[in-house]
Amino acid sequence: MMYLAKEARYQDMTYRRVGHSGLKLPAISLGLWHNFGDVDQLSNQREILHGAFDMGITHFDLANNYGPPAGSAEINFGRILREDFQSYRDEMIISSKAGYYMWPGPYGEWGSKKNIVASCDQSLKRMGLDYVDIFYHHRPDYDTPLRETAQALDLLVRQGKALYVGVSNYDAERTKEIAQIFKELGTPFIIHQPNYNMFDRWIEDGLLTVLEEEQLGAIVFSPLAQGMLTNRYLNGIPADSRAHRSDSPFLSEDKVEATLKIVKELNKVAENRNQTLAEMALGWNLRQPAIASVLVGASRLSQLQDNVKALAKLSFEDEELAAIETILNQ
Ligand code: NDP
Repeated sequence: MMYLAKEARYQDMTYRRVGHSGLKLPAISLGLWHNFGDVDQLSNQREILHGAFDMGITHFDLANNYGPPAGSAEINFGRILREDFQSYRDEMIISSKAGYYMWPGPYGEWGSKKNIVASCDQSLKRMGLDYVDIFYHHRPDYDTPLRETAQALDLLVRQGKALYVGVSNYDAERTKEIAQIFKELGTPFIIHQPNYNMFDRWIEDGLLTVLEEEQLGAIVFSPLAQGMLTNRYLNGIPADSRAHRSDSPFLSEDKVEATLKIVKELNKVAENRNQTLAEMALGWNLRQPAIASVLVGASRLSQLQDNVKALAKLSFEDEELAAIETILNQ
């Protein structure tokens, strides 16, 4: 049956401006790193994407290498876009990235102009798009002149293949440096995509200040620490969880077990706020004004439905923030 988006889809979502740009993103965006590869069921992918859009989630984040296999998330997303979302393209912000390994030889990864331009063309083909809304350099490359990487992203904008550009995983210093180059080039560099969550707070140590100085916004990835900051593992490690799945090597069962005591204590704070831990963890991230959006993953629609409830209660009492600090600092 043809997909028809809910009419009330914009009713409950909050949209936050990215830095000082004209672009607003939903406070909660959906990432397709996991759960959208060929190893995952297409019907579930479709259900998540429909449900997301129906809740006002207008932003979908991809990268050349998402899958597995690499590239398949863009192909699957492209197929669902073509089949269900064609008439909604102008309501969507779609991003992709280049930088991680995609093909053999010296041009298949990192930050040369050759890699970035070719990779963007490949992504557009896989998704069946004329342009992406945001294109990122996925990770810093210390062997390529920064100016060349910046010029490659700038070229994509001038060719009409990207509306805005961003960087991901760049430290504070390199972000400042590339921001200067983009200013000279006149490139719409508006956004940084770093990881940030209660367990990994490196952006508080300099990057947030640079973002503010440069009037950039952030969209933070893995805000739920890949699921550890949710109720997913409170009663053991489910067989279908990321920590257990063999095709997700990025979260180990050992890591989950090592954090469990703290997670259970954080869960108590969340319960006292009448929230799930996931809702509280997202609200905690969004307390940072530079963060326009939190980029969550979801293996099922119900998780996303839980996550958007975070927006109903974003404020924290000082005592709640202090209790969270005490738990995290033990
Ligand atoms: P999260 O921290 O949101 O983790 C998502 C996982 O947490 C889900 O797959 C699910 O695990 C679990 N989960 C989510 N919501 C709930 C809930 N309400 N209750 C219980 N469990 C829940 O983010 P990701 O690590 O998936 O990253 C999000 C996105 O960020 C990526 O898709 C990608 O777009 C981007 N990213 C960018 C990177 C970069 O280098 N720029 C690197 C990594 C990610 P389960 O699967 O076990 O059900």
